[in-house]
Amino acid sequence: MIDLNALGKAFRDEYGTEPRFFAAPGRVNLIGEHTDYNDGFVLPLAIDRRTTVAAHPRNDRLVRVRSLNIGETMSFDLDGTGEGRRDIWLDYIEGVARVCESRGFHLRGADMTLCSDVPEGAGLSSSAALEISSALAMASVSGFVIDPVKMALIGQQAEHQYVGTMCGIMDQYVAALGEAGHALLIDCRSLEYKPIPIDTSDIAIAICDTGVKHSLASSEYNARRRECERGVQILREWLPGITALRDVTMEQFEIHQEKLPEPIRSRCRHVIGEIARTLAASEALLHRDFTTMGRLMAESHRSLRDDYEVSCEELDLMVELAAAVDGTVGARMTGGGFGGSTVNLVHRGSLEMFREMVGSGYAAKTGHAPAIYVSEIGEGAREIG
Ligand code: ADP
Ligand code: MG
Repeated sequence: MIDLNALGKAFRDEYGTEPRFFAAPGRVNLIGEHTDYNDGFVLPLAIDRRTTVAAHPRNDRLVRVRSLNIGETMSFDLDGTGEGRRDIWLDYIEGVARVCESRGFHLRGADMTLCSDVPEGAGLSSSAALEISSALAMASVSGFVIDPVKMALIGQQAEHQYVGTMCGIMDQYVAALGEAGHALLIDCRSLEYKPIPIDTSDIAIAICDTGVKHSLASSEYNARRRECERGVQILREWLPGITALRDVTMEQFEIHQEKLPEPIRSRCRHVIGEIARTLAASEALLHRDFTTMGRLMAESHRSLRDDYEVSCEELDLMVELAAAVDGTVGARMTGGGFGGSTVNLVHRGSLEMFREMVGSGYAAKTGHAPAIYVSEIGEGAREIG
């Protein structure tokens, strides 16, 4: 947990003014992987780790930001043309500022200090936490209240244009709108959501970080997006009304699948099946049916591994080790894949054994002890302090 006193002190020491504080969480996706950019459904929740920004407006149009995680202060001028992509951490913040401006939110300059306990690059979306917390901070000290769905779209656009990751809407959406005690069943087409209460009195959410991030992640991600688009293009000849894989039922897919060449056929099978699984999972959770939830998570992992081919040895090993623990209800990779983390539902009474067996099993095979986080369900972006 971030100490607000320490963050406030670092802010005052650097800028000499009294800040307001804003925070946005990281996230973990229970099920619904690679469905967001297919107009489908996802079921993420905000974790209890977050990025916190201390901010105070300036009378000019300069934005100065210090990241305590990086130990560096950087700045940009809102009246400048923008450097475009530089592949540095400031891109995320300058990106959201420039997208806000382009959408008519004329921002004031600001001094900011930020600090995060969302691990970077672990697939828990430290980037969305950074975008949404800094967007909320810059908008708020400029006197704007931005609708949270619009804020999520601003974060996504910034990541597309200023970072170059063609992400879906899930990460920014749950960072902006997450609700304590609930996962969000997000309809990525209508951008509406339904809060799904998760009873965590007996079941804990355990996140296991493989500690690896294979370099194929972003090129393969973009390749999968193209394969899905190609699938829609081909299927449209027989199903003229469709605009995304969201519109294709499993029955329709089974009738027409012969017309799809591999690997497009397998990619489509994953997405169409995963959307159905996500809806079934939200029903199961509403009925506290963790047995069904666990089965759906296992099917999701197999589908991501075999049909979508975005898993890797480390993720498969972590899931296998978790599934072997008595007391594990469900286990699957979460996030884009090729490394990052797994999400697990584990009976609280078995958590110690889970940590021991998964931790030592993973270390024995890889020589690397994994970070295992047990997370409560956090809340979306807000002003704090
Ligand atoms: P993920 O979102 O899965 O954690 P990404 O590669 O998408 O991984 O985002 C990680 C990047 O976000 C970091 O390399 C860094 O540039 C930026 N970032 C995240 N948190 C911070 C922070 N607290 N301070 C500075 N930069 C950060
Ligand atoms: Mg990210």
